[in-house]
Amino acid sequence: MNETSGALLGPAEIRDLAGRLGVRPTKTLGQNFLHDGGTVRKIVRIAGLKPGERVVEVGPGLGSLTLGLVEAGASVVAIEIDPVLAGQIAGTVKARFPDSDFEVVLADAMDVTTLPGDPPTALVANLPYNVAVPVLLTMLQRFDSLERVLVMVQAEVADRIAAVPGSKIYGIPSVKAAWYASARRAGTIGRNVFWPAPNVDSALVQLERREPPSTTASRERVFAVVDAAFAQRRKTLRAALSALFGSGAAAETALRAAGVDPSARGETLVVEQFARIAEQLPDNGEGRE
Ligand code: SAM
Repeated sequence: MNETSGALLGPAEIRDLAGRLGVRPTKTLGQNFLHDGGTVRKIVRIAGLKPGERVVEVGPGLGSLTLGLVEAGASVVAIEIDPVLAGQIAGTVKARFPDSDFEVVLADAMDVTTLPGDPPTALVANLPYNVAVPVLLTMLQRFDSLERVLVMVQAEVADRIAAVPGSKIYGIPSVKAAWYASARRAGTIGRNVFWPAPNVDSALVQLERREPPSTTASRERVFAVVDAAFAQRRKTLRAALSALFGSGAAAETALRAAGVDPSARGETLVVEQFARIAEQLPDNGEGRE
């Protein structure tokens, strides 16, 4: 049995399924389907699922990764926006794994606030690239049962999510992801394992949930400071945060009170420092989650 045989979908099965469904992959929905069982099993292995673990997958597509998750014994709930794909996926899974625990939700993942069944403890997905960061952050925000995440994204985006302060690519995705979890790159994925082959490289990023920074500021306020700091990332924090605090002088006072050098730039700060700054916003404490 080679790695794409067995119950997983290889190039012939992907072509056949897409042909029967009349699926023409669209860029708008980031539709690049995995057709390599070896890659699917690698992703599932790295995800390190516990037996019977409840997993949420965003964008199951034709089912390539879903089948790998089910094969590993996971209980899977998948969210798919494309009605044709969502309509087929349960049949694909049941035909190969009749006893599997699987259900699909037809929806835009950004709109999903509740999921059927037990709360998922893991998110494993080959995310649609154009919405990968908002989907990832929204899932972490809405489903606090999620302890672990393994997602495939554009390589550049994986680097940004896992970046540390002081690097050029450290920015909004890095800080916001750090609010919820610690993140690391977990391998690269070649282009030829997809149909159609994307014109960007892909990579895996793995996140492990941790407690958010201990702060009296709400997440919204901390994220507002992060957004402002990076909206003008080449400016000093004093300048970048002046609109948010009402004036440059007020921003400077707030930064000093937070123990942050007003001439520093956002790209040097850890998430805890953004939280300290947010604590200095007027009316602090309102709207805490
Ligand atoms: N998991 C499959 C695989 O690995 O072959 C497909 C991955 S493909 C990169 C992304 C999938 O996400 C597509 O099936 C697409 O229709 C779906 N999708 C795109 N935007 C979505 C959204 N906002 N919510 C849920 N699914 C979405």
